[in-house]
Amino acid sequence: MKVLNVLNNAHRIIIKIGSALIADGDGKARLAWMKALASDIAGWRTKGREVIIVTSGAGALGRSLVGLSRDKIKRNLSMEEKQAATAVGQPILMQAWEEVFKGSNTLTAQVLLTLDDTEDRQRHLTCRGAIEKILKLNALPIINENDTVSTAEIRIGDNDRLAARVAQMMSADTLILLSDIDGLYTADPKTNPSATFIPEVKEITTDIEAMAGDPQPGVSSGGMKTKIMAAKIAVTSGCRMAILKGTEENPLRKLDEGTLRCTWFTPSTTPLAARKRWIAAHMSMKGAIIIDDGAAKALQDGRSLLPAGVKSCEGSFVAGDAVAIKTLSGHSVGCGLIAFDRDEADKICGKRSDDIERLLGYAGQEEMIHRDNMVMNK
Ligand code: GLU
Repeated sequence: MKVLNVLNNAHRIIIKIGSALIADGDGKARLAWMKALASDIAGWRTKGREVIIVTSGAGALGRSLVGLSRDKIKRNLSMEEKQAATAVGQPILMQAWEEVFKGSNTLTAQVLLTLDDTEDRQRHLTCRGAIEKILKLNALPIINENDTVSTAEIRIGDNDRLAARVAQMMSADTLILLSDIDGLYTADPKTNPSATFIPEVKEITTDIEAMAGDPQPGVSSGGMKTKIMAAKIAVTSGCRMAILKGTEENPLRKLDEGTLRCTWFTPSTTPLAARKRWIAAHMSMKGAIIIDDGAAKALQDGRSLLPAGVKSCEGSFVAGDAVAIKTLSGHSVGCGLIAFDRDEADKICGKRSDDIERLLGYAGQEEMIHRDNMVMNK
């Protein structure tokens, strides 16, 4: 079988796993399947690939424990019931992940997010920083939606969108949606025998969108619609996305070996270029940071802006706002999203990063503006 294999240059990979793969019909964790997947992921990590999991399954594991299995009560669950079920199921879900990763000595880290956390600029920066640190400390971030504080109805398929938003937030180059179907077809293959498989989508046209039907009732598949929505977010963030049949044993290993087909959605930009565009889109400048010549040189060399190189601040801004970066002579060298409120920035400007805790009373970020959150003028 000839399969498009683009994983060779994948460095940061988000893997989204749906509830039907995590829980069996009795609401028990499918530990054998999860274990095989965990060993493939551990193998990728030893190859130097960074992996972030976005997992569903809390509701599916918690429902029956609180007497809310659907066939028992024979009606749809209310939002509060779903939230209660996910609250019970989430620790069980994490326990299952912890157990299956034990064999490879992989430390797991639970991260609960809402879509708002990825959209609000300040929260986005905080979450990105925390997840970067988890990866740096060699633990594996395992993300689920924080269902208790989600304001919208817990909808099936939300995690497809959440996974795409995480891919965007983390500048990931690859997003893999493990699904119950092996990819996109011209029509629903379950009902239309002439449906043909599409191995690669280079542009998400209205024709492509029309191919996505609504979810089948029953299993927790969000259907193709939410997957195409996720693909749109991913590719505009410079991240390629695969829809892959997760019900196979070791789907990730097979994908890597090129023996399992899938649909790839390919981007026309890179995560870095997309992030610069994202920053530029938020550039209604709230102030300016005046830097010394040493800092200007460091920025030209591709480094972050540290408080030590800052001479003064102008304007009224809070952490996450866009500010101009200017030299002492008033020349603008670029702009970026600042990590501190104006009053904090005033206190630490000109100071060493290890003085931040003493000056502010908490250990903040060591950069005034992180490199990833900066766009330099050409
Ligand atoms: N967060 C929900 C859960 O863990 C699932 C949402 C989804 O499947 O998209 O049960």
